[in-house]
Amino acid sequence: MGHPTLVRLLHLLLAIALLLPAHAAAAEAQVDLQYGPLPVFELHSGFWINLHHTLYGQARQSRDGRGSPSGTGATTRRTPSEQVAWDAAVAYYAANYQDKDLLFNTELILLKNQLGDFEQCDELSGAKKKTCDAGLPARLTRILDAAAPVYRAHEWPSHDLANRRWVLRVAPLVREQGLGLSQRLADIYQTKWPKDKIRVDVCAYANRSGAYTTLEPLRVTISSTDTRNQGAEALEVLFHEASHGIADTVQQAIIRECRQREKAIPRDLWHALIFYTTGEVIRPVITATNADGSSDGSETAYTPYAIREGIYQRGWDGYLKLLTQFWQPYLDGKATFDDAIARMVSAL
Ligand SMILES: [Zn+2]
Repeated sequence: MGHPTLVRLLHLLLAIALLLPAHAAAAEAQVDLQYGPLPVFELHSGFWINLHHTLYGQARQSRDGRGSPSGTGATTRRTPSEQVAWDAAVAYYAANYQDKDLLFNTELILLKNQLGDFEQCDELSGAKKKTCDAGLPARLTRILDAAAPVYRAHEWPSHDLANRRWVLRVAPLVREQGLGLSQRLADIYQTKWPKDKIRVDVCAYANRSGAYTTLEPLRVTISSTDTRNQGAEALEVLFHEASHGIADTVQQAIIRECRQREKAIPRDLWHALIFYTTGEVIRPVITATNADGSSDGSETAYTPYAIREGIYQRGWDGYLKLLTQFWQPYLDGKATFDDAIARMVSAL
């Protein structure tokens, strides 16, 4: 912005840095934490959090009788001793976590956040470096520390590369549109965008939805290999997920209106609303800009995530009608927030 040549040079440098092999970065600071000064988000490709999601994914896949999770490098050749350590880790996850939900289970949320915070550590016991004692249960620490070299030798290089490539592709869009989009969304939801950058953990495997967000602290986990999160769509997924952290005003207003009218509170209307809103806010931005961030005048229409993935067809058809009829006028500046919510609820 303002210095196109400098920006292009920075992009180039960033591109080179991102595509260096994972081990080169690891030699210095374990995991390269942050990919340049992007606005709004800080994007991480963290070792432990990737290992965590990979183990969780593999445990679930075995439970469900499927192969290894997509994008987790199914063709690994582990030595017998590596295999023992790996199997023990998957078995631990199967026994302790596979039936718990990454999004809703407090234990899993705390563990994920902790593993994210320790991304620069080689091990989690603090044996080599005191500050690397992650304070996890002793058995879990041993399991993860034993699985770590196996993961580092096999899946991690390709996972890290996939994460870095994903970041590389979305970074120009975030750089160019991130601030404007965040302000627009905060205005729509009549709130303030968080002052601190939102931490995004980019992982080869996330959850079934390909991305999820946990609150307090607000953190987003996104799968770099999920087909739904690729290209310009990645920007929408980022802002949809971030909206989970700022759209509480919508849910509160819906609840208020429902109580006044003595109506049952619709469980997912707020979620349909943030799908709809993010899509509508992103659409003109992406249509005017190509997926690689360039604007060469050739416009291609952007299809919002919820339409592309058939989200409304899963029982939300009625919501889409309400949103189009009563929420869209608010987005167009032709109705107030309160009126739009009130009309939606009264039409329920
Ligand atoms: Zn969502």
